[in-house]
Amino acid sequence: MNNKANEFSSFAETIASLGTLTKLESAVSAAIKSSRVPPKETRKLLKCLSVQEAGNTALFQFMRDLFSKVGVGELEIIKNDIFRYDFAIENSPVCKLYPHVKNKKTCYITAESLSQFFSKDLSLPGTVEETACRNAGDARCEFAVSLQPLAVYQLALDDVDKTIISNVMEGQNRARISESLEMADDEVLFRMNILKRYKILNDDYEMTEIGETYHKYGEGMGGAEEDFQAPWKDMAIISDAISASTSFAEAFTETANGEPLWEVKEKDIVNLADEAKKSKSFAELLSKQVKSDMEE
Ligand SMILES: [Zn+2]
Repeated sequence: MNNKANEFSSFAETIASLGTLTKLESAVSAAIKSSRVPPKETRKLLKCLSVQEAGNTALFQFMRDLFSKVGVGELEIIKNDIFRYDFAIENSPVCKLYPHVKNKKTCYITAESLSQFFSKDLSLPGTVEETACRNAGDARCEFAVSLQPLAVYQLALDDVDKTIISNVMEGQNRARISESLEMADDEVLFRMNILKRYKILNDDYEMTEIGETYHKYGEGMGGAEEDFQAPWKDMAIISDAISASTSFAEAFTETANGEPLWEVKEKDIVNLADEAKKSKSFAELLSKQVKSDMEE
């Protein structure tokens, strides 16, 4: 009998937790598949100057609904730097899947969901790390999303911003830019402040080195931008996709529980729980198990 320390107190609990993780994973992948966000909506989030403003965007509100529907908890946005967004979840349901863990972060599935949402639905690839976790003794779970700067620049600045950058390069002042773009002075100022935040302009609204590099190499990148309906215009489609995928996962888990297809040893289940944390998906986990069975 293997007495190695383990997150799960019993065999039954292990199976139940793995079943829930499988369901969560199916829900996440169904949700991500049906939630591509049009670039112009992502840009609104990227241009927010404060956390409050970011929290009020249609995109973040949608994100909060989506993650809550999937079952990983209620997201709160707690930091919006240009290349880094942090989120918090109070009382994460994912934490409860590991009731006996102490001093260890456990919510890899939430981190992975955030990473997929940013890269696949927002076209903002990056890395996600759980920086605090209730199971590690913190007050709540927190996640840091670090984005690839080039992708952020590509999405954050639109054609008007690019025109303003060109005009600044040509030495025009704000009054001239306002006149030539036929745009109110305060809107030009608002846009220039965003360019300042993105380090394209310095405190004196002059071009920085980053700005010059962007102007030289970055302007033509991206090409014509796609436009399509925002996913929050039809939440029913997403809800249906999520419930279809979770009931499929449920049926699969029930069949597996009801009629064992092979004899399972408790030692293997302990290993399986360890592997589950290292694996990116249930399919990967299964393939690892099959491999290790074949090696025996
Ligand atoms: Zn956590």
